[in-house]
Amino acid sequence: MKFVIVSGGVISGIGKGVIGLLFKTRGLRVSAIKIDPYMNIDAGTMSPLEHGEVFVLDDGGEVDLDLGNYERYLNVTLTRENNITTGKIYSAVIERERKGDYLGKTVQVVPHITNAIQDWIERVARIPVDSSGEEPDVCIVELGGTVGDIESAPFVEALRQFQFRVGPDNFALIHVSLVPVVNGEQKTKPTQVAVRDLRGLGLMPDIVACRCTHKLEKPTTDKISMFCHVGPDQVLVVHDLSSIYHVPLLLDQQKIVEQLSKKLKLDTLSVGPPALATGAALWNDWRNLTNTHDRMFESVNIALVGKYTHLKDSYMSVIKSLEHSALRCQRKLNISWVEATDLEPDAAENSRVNFHKAWHEVCSADGILVPGGFGVRGTEGMIAACKWARENKVPYLGICLGLQIAVIEYARNVLGIKDQAIVDILVSLLEANTHLDAHSEELVPEPPANPLIVFMPEVSKTHLGGTMRLGLRPTIFQDDSEWSKLRKLYGGVEAVHERHRHRYEVNPEFVPELEKAGLTFVGKDDKGERMEILELKSHPYFVGTQYHPEYLSRVLNPSKPYLGFIAASSGTLGDIIDL
Ligand code: GLN
Repeated sequence: MKFVIVSGGVISGIGKGVIGLLFKTRGLRVSAIKIDPYMNIDAGTMSPLEHGEVFVLDDGGEVDLDLGNYERYLNVTLTRENNITTGKIYSAVIERERKGDYLGKTVQVVPHITNAIQDWIERVARIPVDSSGEEPDVCIVELGGTVGDIESAPFVEALRQFQFRVGPDNFALIHVSLVPVVNGEQKTKPTQVAVRDLRGLGLMPDIVACRCTHKLEKPTTDKISMFCHVGPDQVLVVHDLSSIYHVPLLLDQQKIVEQLSKKLKLDTLSVGPPALATGAALWNDWRNLTNTHDRMFESVNIALVGKYTHLKDSYMSVIKSLEHSALRCQRKLNISWVEATDLEPDAAENSRVNFHKAWHEVCSADGILVPGGFGVRGTEGMIAACKWARENKVPYLGICLGLQIAVIEYARNVLGIKDQAIVDILVSLLEANTHLDAHSEELVPEPPANPLIVFMPEVSKTHLGGTMRLGLRPTIFQDDSEWSKLRKLYGGVEAVHERHRHRYEVNPEFVPELEKAGLTFVGKDDKGERMEILELKSHPYFVGTQYHPEYLSRVLNPSKPYLGFIAASSGTLGDIIDL
């Protein structure tokens, strides 16, 4: 097993997963581990506004959004164990201590925590992650945070020891750094200092990858080489490009794989002709994709109506899925970020400008998307945007909360269920159970006899971490759903498996009434009790999914609900399916 460690705080700038992708194009099997030095066991309890999107895996693990980047680039399926946190390591060590496994020894950060980290990496790196079912050849281990932080110290020390555990031929280190340009001059000091810190802790980079707006000038490269103890050809740059999809090509030109192959003696691995051919085909597809990207002239405008729009990372997988689909439909993607509260009449009193701007974005969009979310804030704005999409036949995609919003909108405005409580109850329950906003306690009303969106019976009301309905689950297309556009997009299959993350669901008691009025639940869970997909027949594209299809979208294989949405918004849905 070959390990490629990636350290440095600015790695997102070079495109996560790119190095792994390049290994794959050489026919190697690649896995990835992300280390997050925070105390949380997992990302599930973190606010999206603080840490960006919570990514969900097949096994229901709620993990850092970087795992999503790795899954997408490497086309692999990772496990919750591929995301290591301080919380996970400490709880494992403490559990063993309570069992008496340390046989009377004093349990310490070195060696017990550092050993636990190394054991974890070695074990998880070997888990098969693709359809071959075989052990990977290479594992990329990304160290989050900054080297030199108190938090990351045990991990840095563990990696220092790890190079001896696995041997020098199986261990390479890439340090990613930023080269700022100040008054036209490329500054190398931050890189020098970072690498000095790293070396002081016993780790030597084999490659220094620099993020910079421009190509590195020769004196810059020479200086970094001189002060960072690497040859000039070990200093690589990722400068600004027309898209991140071009980064693999740029790094390939700079011979990153050859550099790492030399260090890791990759020629000793036997890669058979079929694997080589698959790798070459992948590379070919990738190059075609970048060519397509450079030749897109028409655009598609999507209004994303959400409540975490101030931090775009909150919607990372949603954005990626839209990008994948736009690439497939050969459209330049323009996303208008609409903060849902700006659409509410109350907002008009505070800021007329924001209110009109937000409505302008919604009214002029080719498609309207309401993504997942928690809590009461913004839900009235989302309902209003959904109404606009339904009435004006603008393509609508509602994800998770977006499906629930569509149900409330329909019940209110088509069925004429005037009971305001439906909405109040939904949103205040959401609020009370997510603790993301203040004053939640005040908002909890007396529970109504029969709300439209209900709390799922099996979900814990006292523990937030890891207790939602999570992970890969089947959705069965119902009889008489052959007309469903989404079903056609999925290839007419009987069932699909997608990833979930929710606490609430559509109350099945309302389903007959909703369906009679035209809102059809074409997909349900395997017991037929949970509403998974809704669709309006008499609309160009009005789809809601209780699951999150964005977690399984791939660059070269876009998620179907998103693909249909972008195609419908571009006016080309008829090119993909029979309408
Ligand atoms: N808050 C809603 C629920 O818990 C929707 C969740 C989501 O959008 N991920 O069901």
